[in-house]
Amino acid sequence: MDNTCDICHHTTGADRYLCEACEYRARSWLTGLPRQAELLRDCLEPTVGPAQRGGSGRAHSPLPVDLRVLDLLGPGRPVPLDDPHGDQTAGVPINALLTGWAHYIATDVPIVYTDLGGVLRTGAYLHAAAVPRSGTGITAWSTWLARHLPYAVTRPYAAEFYEQLQHLQDRIQRITDARPGRRHKQAPCPGCQAFALIEQDGELHIACDACGHRLTAAEYTEHRNQVMPALTALALRMITPRRTAAA
Ligand SMILES: [Zn+2]
Ligand SMILES: [Zn+2]
Repeated sequence: MDNTCDICHHTTGADRYLCEACEYRARSWLTGLPRQAELLRDCLEPTVGPAQRGGSGRAHSPLPVDLRVLDLLGPGRPVPLDDPHGDQTAGVPINALLTGWAHYIATDVPIVYTDLGGVLRTGAYLHAAAVPRSGTGITAWSTWLARHLPYAVTRPYAAEFYEQLQHLQDRIQRITDARPGRRHKQAPCPGCQAFALIEQDGELHIACDACGHRLTAAEYTEHRNQVMPALTALALRMITPRRTAAA
């Protein structure tokens, strides 16, 4: 195992397959799922209303529910069915995906026990099932998974778990259109000098849209305090002669 993140290829700890930033993002997705499910329920009924002038019309009669939402909120199998002819468009529902991963991780979590001879040993549950304390809903499973994420990121399947959560997130956002908030930062990027540093909800770092450079909030504050006074002074000097000439 090398020490680069399987997702973003930044350097990370030797025992990890995902870096802290990707773990943070995955945790944000998991903890945000209960809210996303609420938004999806609001989108269950397709928008209905009088035909709009200039609209392109429908190729079929309107359905009483949005099937994409049912696909996400309904029951289902934790893995997609074999689909050699590409007939299925839907992916795995939220709850089935979370349940499948929780049980998979539960079987993989090591246990420490004392054998009959009194020797301390480690092993795996192998046949364990995850049992969230608060039930079997989306909130319960996403909480269970968020709590076990620090372990999951040290396992070889971490990137697959991350990518399936990301795919789920994309499917939800295509329906709800609820994108994470993005804010432009004032100071230029220390890596490429572009004014492209972005702070985004659910992200550990402030990252540059131009070159991918990333800073923690504390590093950004220190950087801004170093560069902004000089930049502000330069901007003022550029404005001042024009005012003198105009006077
Ligand atoms: Zn990463
Ligand atoms: Zn940059």
